[in-house]
Amino acid sequence: MSEIISYPLEVSIVVPIYNEEENLEELLRRVSEAMTPTGRSWELICIDDCSSDASATLLEQFAASRPWLHPLYLIRNYGQSAAMQAGFDAAAGAVTVTLDGDLQNDPADIPGLLDLLDQRPEIDIISGWRKNRQDRFINRKLPSMIANGLISRMTGVHLHDYGCSLKVYRSESIRDVKIYGELHRFIPALAAQFGAKVIEVPVSHHPRMRGKSKYGIDRTLRVVLDLLWVKFLLRFLHRPMHAFGGAGVALLLPGLLSLAILVFEKLFLGENIGTRPLLLLGVMLTLMGVQLIAMGLLGELLIRIYHEPAGRAQYLLRTGPRRRGKNGHEPSA
Ligand code: UDP
Ligand code: MG
Repeated sequence: MSEIISYPLEVSIVVPIYNEEENLEELLRRVSEAMTPTGRSWELICIDDCSSDASATLLEQFAASRPWLHPLYLIRNYGQSAAMQAGFDAAAGAVTVTLDGDLQNDPADIPGLLDLLDQRPEIDIISGWRKNRQDRFINRKLPSMIANGLISRMTGVHLHDYGCSLKVYRSESIRDVKIYGELHRFIPALAAQFGAKVIEVPVSHHPRMRGKSKYGIDRTLRVVLDLLWVKFLLRFLHRPMHAFGGAGVALLLPGLLSLAILVFEKLFLGENIGTRPLLLLGVMLTLMGVQLIAMGLLGELLIRIYHEPAGRAQYLLRTGPRRRGKNGHEPSA
């Protein structure tokens, strides 16, 4: 991240809001109570994700008397990730903080996390860890434990709690990360790809007191599908031929071998091969192999289009050597 960016504000707090009318007023009060004593300049960006309750109207009213509140209104319900992205795009602060609008995260945790970020210049992202999570075990905590294990393992960024919304980012560390669908939980893993250093810190968590959770158990499956996509993105975005070409060659070789055996038997042994299962297998493997290799080539072409017209470099440079933790290790929580 080579350009020097100057930020007009110190902290932007980004909160997606979908049908949280009963929580809004208390959210604003508690954020303001937490932030005002810090003496930092800050703003609160509440993105109304096209709520069907009074959230949007309330935000508009509250903003009239609160200069630090910036509401955004999405034209339809895009989901939590898109709402957060809208907030990131609008955020003017050098540091961006995210939290949920239902007060399950505690705004009082923010100042401590900001101080920690100040003390640790080598860190770019502090991810909250709901160590004492106040959700049901069977349908929330258990699937989330499994998901966190899988995500950590597959992305190489080890966190106990990807799903915690309370996170603190140096804004430039997420500038190149674009999220949509339900990718918000993967921000630390995606940002790590752009060189961000992530640590995890325990934060408080409360049961939802008012309003309803917007998610059910079906989210688990979507998280797993997203993980496959993220894994693919992290690993193969820059070399699709390796993803498809490898599999293609692995199918093509046995396919060609099978056909070669059949050709040999037909020509030299005079056998009838028309009814041989090996023929079907050989043809299938060969075709699939060729298709996959062709897909890899197409992928490579797409990557050229991705990188070249936009003038994107295939790599990112640091402004200086990586700052290290005290004992020379990568800093961790
Ligand atoms: N949210 C949103 N759009 C949606 C669903 C949720 O902006 O389509 C917001 C919601 O208002 C809340 C946050 O995302 O601020 C997390 O949602 P929720 O508390 O329902 O999730 P849970 O805590 O149950 O995982
Ligand atoms: Mg919640």
